[in-house]
Amino acid sequence: MARRRRRRRAGSGVAGDPLVARLRGIVGPVQVLTDAEMRASYETDWTRRFGAPSRAVVRPGSADEVASVLAACNEARVAVVPQGGNTGLVGGSVPRGGEVVLSTKRIAALDEMDPVTAQVIAGAGMTAAALNELASPYGLRLGVDLASRDSATIGGMAATNAGGINVLRYGMMRAQVGGMEVAFADGSVVSRMSGVGRDNTGYDLPGMIVGSEGTLGVVTALRLRLVPVLPSRAVALLAFDSLEAAIGVALNARNEVADLQAAELFFATGLELVLKHTGLAAPFTERWPFYVLLEAASRMDAASGLADALVNAAGVRDSALATEARDRMRLWAYRERHTESISSVGVPHKLDVALPLGRLREFVERVGPLLSDLSENAMPILFGHIAEGNVHVNVLGFEEDDERPDDAVLRLVASLGGSISAEHGVGVAKRKWLELTRSAADIAAMRAVKDGLDPGWIMNPGVILQRHAG
Ligand SMILES: Cc1cc2nc3c(=O)[nH]c(=O)nc-3n(C[C@H](O)[C@H](O)[C@H](O)COP(=O)(O)OP(=O)(O)OC[C@H]3O[C@@H](n4cnc5c(N)ncnc54)[C@H](O)[C@@H]3O)c2cc1C
Repeated sequence: MARRRRRRRAGSGVAGDPLVARLRGIVGPVQVLTDAEMRASYETDWTRRFGAPSRAVVRPGSADEVASVLAACNEARVAVVPQGGNTGLVGGSVPRGGEVVLSTKRIAALDEMDPVTAQVIAGAGMTAAALNELASPYGLRLGVDLASRDSATIGGMAATNAGGINVLRYGMMRAQVGGMEVAFADGSVVSRMSGVGRDNTGYDLPGMIVGSEGTLGVVTALRLRLVPVLPSRAVALLAFDSLEAAIGVALNARNEVADLQAAELFFATGLELVLKHTGLAAPFTERWPFYVLLEAASRMDAASGLADALVNAAGVRDSALATEARDRMRLWAYRERHTESISSVGVPHKLDVALPLGRLREFVERVGPLLSDLSENAMPILFGHIAEGNVHVNVLGFEEDDERPDDAVLRLVASLGGSISAEHGVGVAKRKWLELTRSAADIAAMRAVKDGLDPGWIMNPGVILQRHAG
């Protein structure tokens, strides 16, 4: 894995670099960054666990420029790391050493907003928050929502098949993609943007690019389906002293609350960190070990459906219900500020996994002791999107290079029939464990796709797959 501490000055000595000169000719001199200071923010990831110096950072402004940059790098057999908002958590958005970083941030224009079909066409570098701002006057928004919304780009979200907090209602990013423009390593551009509702003419290329983490091509534009902004929203925060009760109430809510759009689980350890880091007041006078946050949204009166369903919920020790925006945001903050609060005390091993719902409780009960057996300093902080069995296991207390916690947690997940990559992707962080949940035939098929679309393996090599087995 490329570690942050292995820094060297890859971009230095570029004065006579013919590739850099060619890239400058394509995008203009100011859009190719070679100075170490200018490159720095593109070379370290959000977790601070991954990153290394690049050869250069190139910032194309159109699909044609992206295609020309890829063709030039392909000819020179220099690897390319596509990068959107650089909020990825598995090390896939930053160089491992000497690659060209291709930033999509300048490709962020709104091309078409169609309120009738509730679809938008926009550049891949547009952030989710910017898209929502443009769609909001039409009463629309993107169906995928996540805490990194201010920086994460729609291209990066498609490339990782992002999930987030509303998956139980609207699905993951793949479900929002109605069309895509993508540039491949050979400099060709494929555009499937018609938006025709039923189109089964051959392979579903956009569907395959979604979740490919920059290893097959660069997404340059997207046609996205939007969902209505629902004006009535209600958030309930519930406290439990039993894990079984917490999981039971959250899963029951899926059936009982027609307007449910989020169901999140977190624990006392995470809440303590959030309170310390943010200075927020505790949600309840007493501290409880388990918390569930539920959100319902509808055109009218989301609160009554949520409250009715919770009136007889078993095992709830304390609760708060909020309908006003400020109060809802305060309750959400206890959950959404977990990631930054954890990062404020160390560099965690971040393991985003999913379990079959029937094994969720067993996983949560076993993962803590498993990590404590490895180190007395182990500090696991768990939270997640409970309706899909998605748990974010953050582990503090281990060296960044120590793979024992990753190995132990991912093997436990696989043994329980789960997925080692729920929504953040495989990146470089989990590549080594791909065989735990993908068969040899499955991996061979993925390699065949990679070989076909990127025969020189210049597109984000080392992410998901290593060129040579091992
Ligand atoms: C506070 C916080 C909360 C988060 N919450 C969630 C969550 O709830 N759900 C969730 O799914 N994720 C979450 N994430 C992770 C992250 O925000 C998502 O993975 C997001 O989709 C990444 O978008 P990005 O634009 O930042 O992509 P980047 O980080 O820049 O890149 C991510 C991957 O996509 C590739 N890529 C980027 N743009 C393109 C493109 N245009 N074409 C081809 N490949 C590309 C990169 O090469 C890399 O492999 C969170 C992150 C943070 C920091």
